[in-house]
Amino acid sequence: MSSIKFFFLLISIFVLIATLIFNYQNSSKNITSKYTNITHSIIDYSLTEKVGHKWLKELCAIGPRLSGSVESELAINWAVNKFKEINCDTVWLQPVMVPRWVRGIKESAIISKSQKFAERKLNIASLGGSVGTDSKNVTGQVFEIKKFGDLKNIDISKTKGKIFFFNEPFDETFSNTFEAYGKAVQQRVYGVDEAAKLGAIAVVVRSVTSKYDNIPHVGTLFYSDSVKRIPGVSIGVEDADFLSNLLKEEPFAEISLEIDCHTLPDVESYNVIAEIRGNELPEEIIVVGGHLDSWDKGCGAQDAAAPCIQTIEVLHQLKTLGLHPKRTIRCVLFTNEENGLKGAMKYGEYSAVHKEKHVAAIESDRGVFEPRGFYVEAETEIIGKMEEWLPLLMETKIDWIKKGGSGADISRIKGTSAKIGFAPDDQKYFDYHHSDNDIFETVNPREMQLGTAAITLLAYLISEEGL
Ligand SMILES: [Zn+2]
Repeated sequence: MSSIKFFFLLISIFVLIATLIFNYQNSSKNITSKYTNITHSIIDYSLTEKVGHKWLKELCAIGPRLSGSVESELAINWAVNKFKEINCDTVWLQPVMVPRWVRGIKESAIISKSQKFAERKLNIASLGGSVGTDSKNVTGQVFEIKKFGDLKNIDISKTKGKIFFFNEPFDETFSNTFEAYGKAVQQRVYGVDEAAKLGAIAVVVRSVTSKYDNIPHVGTLFYSDSVKRIPGVSIGVEDADFLSNLLKEEPFAEISLEIDCHTLPDVESYNVIAEIRGNELPEEIIVVGGHLDSWDKGCGAQDAAAPCIQTIEVLHQLKTLGLHPKRTIRCVLFTNEENGLKGAMKYGEYSAVHKEKHVAAIESDRGVFEPRGFYVEAETEIIGKMEEWLPLLMETKIDWIKKGGSGADISRIKGTSAKIGFAPDDQKYFDYHHSDNDIFETVNPREMQLGTAAITLLAYLISEEGL
């Protein structure tokens, strides 16, 4: 190539890059100026009226909402009434069968054999889905496992007839608490099965939490069909440390457990679905949602009453502010996320059978702390387009939009261009998660309402601009 041709080639490349940058900046600037007023009206309304936070108090007053429970039914009715008050275009209940696990009344653990601490109580709670102890105490020597991975090297002759004590702590070296949770939660989910294979008679699991207190944090456990089902409980972290220290001094200490949780036949529950029909492209749907069920501890305020309400309020804010979306915005409150995901499966099947076109789905299920970003499962170009909206979203404290896992409830929707998970700050979420700590008072109204504004704005931008 001659040097002149090379020179022109370089110039052309330079012009092309400059044009692309110019276009990008221009389209971002255009979008920003087009939606600045709307952005401010959403934020102003959300922060001054704090409607969602008031609704949260009502929902929390019902109590925790485990699938199939009376409280879960009351919460479903509450949500239907809310959508009717908002004057949504449609409100309906989607039936779905859900498991019905009941905690029962008896829930005790004591140190039954020890020179120093005999009869001392331990703070435990049955894990979701656990079998009970058949109206008797299960008593045995304690076998401590400090890391779930250590199970591979254990000799069954040392473990038969013992109570396994999984004591892997929440790894504080992760700055993202969801990663720490993901690592430590293995022992809670798979501990019973692995222990039963090694001849254990019951399992005690250190609570998977970032908080140092003595409140047990529950959650689901998993039994495979081929393995004997043994009872599983969680223990407060202070008592977990106490037990671990005791075993150093008295390796032959025994504990005794009694729990009477049980599983009843499946019952009918519902996803609650409401929408505002789009006025130009009504067949194109943007889902916003979260799960209305919770564990039977605290009132499930952060997980996930408040996140659910953020998505109900999206419809309320659009209506109140007179923002008529081009595309349909549909709120789905899923049932049974915590112990079966049956609601998510049902909605996924329904949308596939009806060949509905979902442009995007936004889930809120990481608590309602100060907004940070949105994780997006989508093609790079779509994420790029959404990033152009950041100058607007930053007004709600959203700093980033990046590729990442969105959420369990929207995972079953097929053919969606973007699955999006709202990501508030994560440092405190696991202090409360699945425990009596998860109450209304943990929710900061400003943080919650900023998150609501972020989700409303994003849903509205997708509706108006497409993806
Ligand atoms: Zn949740």
